[in-house]
Amino acid sequence: MKQSKMVFLGVAITFAAVFLSPWCHLDGREGIALGLISEANAAESPVKVSPVKARERDVYFPNSEDLGRDEMRVVACGTGMPTTRSAQAAACFLVELGNGDKFIFDIGSGSAERISALQIPYDYLDKIFVGHLHADHIGSLAEMFIGGALMGRQNPLRVWGPSGSVPELGTAYAVQKMEEMYTWDLAGRVGLVDFRGYAIEVNEFDYRGENAVIYKDNGVTIRSFPAIHSLDGPVSFSLEWKGLKFVFGSDTFPNKWFNEYAKDADLVVHECFVTVPDLIKKMGFTPEQALLVGTQVHTSPEAFGKVMSMIKPKHAVAYHFFKDFDTTAAVNDRIRKTYDGPLSLAEDFMVWNITKDDIRVRMAAVEEHTWAPPLVSKPEVPQKDDKGKFSEEVGVPLDKMGYSDFIKGGRLAEVDEVLRETYKEASEALGREFEYPSK
Ligand SMILES: [Zn+2]
Ligand SMILES: [Zn+2]
Repeated sequence: MKQSKMVFLGVAITFAAVFLSPWCHLDGREGIALGLISEANAAESPVKVSPVKARERDVYFPNSEDLGRDEMRVVACGTGMPTTRSAQAAACFLVELGNGDKFIFDIGSGSAERISALQIPYDYLDKIFVGHLHADHIGSLAEMFIGGALMGRQNPLRVWGPSGSVPELGTAYAVQKMEEMYTWDLAGRVGLVDFRGYAIEVNEFDYRGENAVIYKDNGVTIRSFPAIHSLDGPVSFSLEWKGLKFVFGSDTFPNKWFNEYAKDADLVVHECFVTVPDLIKKMGFTPEQALLVGTQVHTSPEAFGKVMSMIKPKHAVAYHFFKDFDTTAAVNDRIRKTYDGPLSLAEDFMVWNITKDDIRVRMAAVEEHTWAPPLVSKPEVPQKDDKGKFSEEVGVPLDKMGYSDFIKGGRLAEVDEVLRETYKEASEALGREFEYPSK
């Protein structure tokens, strides 16, 4: 009797391992673990654990895992809303490919901090695709522009984004004005730092392009198609590489282009907004506002589910809602009214490893106290004519790129003595003379 029960248990576990695995996304390790359990049960002994040996953990630790040659890794670096919060940055998804290429889709407020936690050298983070120009999708662009260069990017930042119905509503205009906004910042840095990274290349493309190729290099093709959101201009993207397809909706009301061009994708990221009742209760919207914003400007969870049921991705990702203990169930319930396929309700630092056979979903465990990652190539000392070139290009007089006598006259002379000591200390410690700057 006892033996037959054991046999039954073994058969049941084997059944679960073999037949449930496609739905459970079991990796080999878990499959082996199940095998061990069934063997262990047969031998009536517990699974072996060790008090001193580490076990593999189902968490992604950045900068600790190689990416397979045919593998794509997607990291959610922002999944929230235009209203900022420390739990969730605004829209941003990083796509890393086994060929070494990396692409950032949207760079919403707060997302640059998430990116820095991944400890990726900044020369590899030079390609940003923005779906539209709302602050929650471009709010961290300046941090990638200035901060990215400070953190070691030695090449211009490259930005792709849509045109608008007039030039003032396009990406080139937005980026140009952002650069102008930082004239003072740049004027204070030029001549002191390797200035090659403090530049932006803009690639504005027609927002009306339907599945139009906007990037093709190194085996990667990125296409854009129109989105419906707020004004003319927004787009969604697809990225194809080695038979894998990633789709990023940015913000959009469900539309015919998405349904057509997001088909056959492995991972489809589409907005899924806060439910109408929560917009009223938690955001303080009037019912009229909540209905308009929650169902017409954005995609409601029910509508998100409908879209996914129609395009049937290998794995659907819902983002753009505040994911809390008291909001998530309602979002899930409403999606499940219209969609029963594989689904992630995204939050910051969710990670998808995608191969032809499997999509593995985990959370990243990140260090918050990160410093700048290593440089990809040797830094260049500031060039003598950097300041002159900048002055000419931007129209700031060369003699204004420094302190006036008025400001210099405000320096506390007593502090010089203290700082001379620091120079002396460094000279002694490093065995060469560092001369204290003359005033
Ligand atoms: Zn938007
Ligand atoms: Zn948005």
